[in-house]
Amino acid sequence: MSKLHSSVENLRKEYREIFSKTVEEIQKRIDEIKPETVNGDIFDEFTKGSEGRKWQAAVLEMFDKDISKEIYRKFQEVLAYREQFQCSGCATCCNLACSEFSPEELKQKAENGDNFAKQFTSIFIPYESKEEARRVYPEYIQMLEDNKEDDVYFYHCPKLTKDNRCSDYENRPQICRDFPDNPLSILPNSCGYKKWKEEIEPVTLMLHSMLEIIQYYKENICKYFQD
Ligand code: SF4
Ligand code: SF4
Repeated sequence: MSKLHSSVENLRKEYREIFSKTVEEIQKRIDEIKPETVNGDIFDEFTKGSEGRKWQAAVLEMFDKDISKEIYRKFQEVLAYREQFQCSGCATCCNLACSEFSPEELKQKAENGDNFAKQFTSIFIPYESKEEARRVYPEYIQMLEDNKEDDVYFYHCPKLTKDNRCSDYENRPQICRDFPDNPLSILPNSCGYKKWKEEIEPVTLMLHSMLEIIQYYKENICKYFQD
């Protein structure tokens, strides 16, 4: 198993642990606002107008008004901290961009107004083969193969010069200016933001788990408020 593969495995393990703790914490907050008169679980179907139904409404409000805002604020802090780090100009992110979408799918998404796809297709073109992509970042391609992740398309930017400079730096799109804006992206060791990613990873995993968990709760409570 490559170093990159094992670090991704460790990340998954860490995520599972953080996820379990976050479930407990969110459930605790739900229980804290549970009226004493209510018997039952937050996912139960209570009759309209009952205390149980009001509790569920209060929980949904807590998700939207409190927890979502806390997550957003924390993500902003994570991104603001990124400003303390700098791109080292290794050009890996210009030389190898991966997507679960094929060139045709990205083109379609761009035509349908997807802003990210529009920017992406304005600069990136597909590699002719996986072998070409492998030359840029062999460890990463190996890790995808080890994980049997076959549905990945590899792209590169032709605006990159032979000496790894952006030939259109002033006009580069926002996705280039913002990279890496997802702290959970896999970054090469040469990336100037690698340390940022490592430092904020536990917080990011926790925020990510909160988002997943409240989404689950919302889906399973909102169904009682649809009529
Ligand atoms: S436009 Fe410039 S910064 Fe953006 S991917 Fe291409 S070479 Fe890199
Ligand atoms: S991978 Fe990181 S250091 Fe390398 S060019 Fe991209 S942002 Fe800069």
